[in-house]
Amino acid sequence: MLYQRSSQLFAEAEQVIPGGVNSPVRAFKAVGGTPIFVKSAKGAYLYDEDGNRLIDYINSWGPMILGHAYEPVVNAVIEKAKLGTSFGMPTELETQIAALAVSMVPNIDKIRFVNSGTEACMSAIRLARGFTKRDKIIKFAGCYHGHSDSFLIQAGSGAITFGSPNSPGVTAGTAKDTLLANYNDIENVKAVIEANKDEIAAIIVEPVAGNMGCIPPVKGFLEGLRTLCTENGILLIFDEVMTGFRLAKGGVQELSNVDADIVCFGKVIGGGLPVGAFAARAEIMNYLAPLGPVYQAGTLSGNPLAMAAGLAMLQALNNDAAIFQRLADKTAYLASGIDKVLKANNVAFTINTIGSMISVHFDANPVVDFKTAAKGDNETFKKFFHGLLQEGIYIAPSAYETWFITDALTYEDLDFTINAIDKVSKSF
Ligand code: PMP
Repeated sequence: MLYQRSSQLFAEAEQVIPGGVNSPVRAFKAVGGTPIFVKSAKGAYLYDEDGNRLIDYINSWGPMILGHAYEPVVNAVIEKAKLGTSFGMPTELETQIAALAVSMVPNIDKIRFVNSGTEACMSAIRLARGFTKRDKIIKFAGCYHGHSDSFLIQAGSGAITFGSPNSPGVTAGTAKDTLLANYNDIENVKAVIEANKDEIAAIIVEPVAGNMGCIPPVKGFLEGLRTLCTENGILLIFDEVMTGFRLAKGGVQELSNVDADIVCFGKVIGGGLPVGAFAARAEIMNYLAPLGPVYQAGTLSGNPLAMAAGLAMLQALNNDAAIFQRLADKTAYLASGIDKVLKANNVAFTINTIGSMISVHFDANPVVDFKTAAKGDNETFKKFFHGLLQEGIYIAPSAYETWFITDALTYEDLDFTINAIDKVSKSF
């Protein structure tokens, strides 16, 4: 496949946009080559500026769980746009999506909408700090909670890819309030809490990690966090920006039966428009302005186009009793197919998967945390990525990302992908 026009467009973009992109991982720095410029997308496929069709396993990094240009979402946005695109005043639509989200997710009474996952997580820790009157937070190495200062300490996703997990520009003053722990290691969390008694406002965790590849929690990890938080007056924040409305209607709280104190959302909740949200029981949410002292606001928060897209998406998921099983079945089929061909071709690998999230790590050992994720063989990943691109398959241009399975993928698409992986991995 040729990507001539994409290369030319990238060269033009580099003149006026830093690195040619508005979010770093898009630039293909980790895998080499030039990024692909998209013209349109429908269902499971991307169509690029060179006229190529690609099977999409990224799906805008998660939101397009029902496929691209999903008609109920597109129509809802078109109809709303005709009525005005932003008011900065309350609309009935905001209550409708809030009520639906609260009904789908366990253990939350109220939800506030923002414009990105970053904003959701940033606001959630401010709320936790205000509520507990403590300053420190615990985050896990390799977890990503957006690009706000407190979280850019051993962050996952693009922050690992670029080798700058601790970004310049984050002050020492901010960094000292972010304590690090190892994912899936409850003893380590216990030790961090012991060393900072009565100082920790919140533990924020991706309850299924997706930003160091996909790493599900080991048995007892989330339960252990819940117990430690309850015992120590710490709020447990589930960052469900990736997993919310993807792994189950009620996210990982529903899957694990572990209650969080605050939950963050993004991606699917906006149906592909810029939306984030954070939610909790009323006692905590009432701490927010205008009811309480913790300030948080947004000119475009609750924007009618974004809310219309999100509502159409949540309604579609809520009304389809089989959706999460169907997604899990497709993902399991893909995982078992990849497993078979990589074994046959003597590749060292580990596949981690849960629900509709999957990642292939090029290392034979179990991948359970940041350290084990970092052992993956990047040279193999580069060959894998570019090989698949030549076959018309688009996976994330970094080894530290999860693939997101969409309902628009057919079993023919999955077979095509497995065959392509067979072909590509023969030449590793
Ligand atoms: N939290 C998690 C778990 C994420 O995966 C991401 C984005 N990949 C974010 C927060 C940040 O969301 P956004 O990019 O919308 O700011």
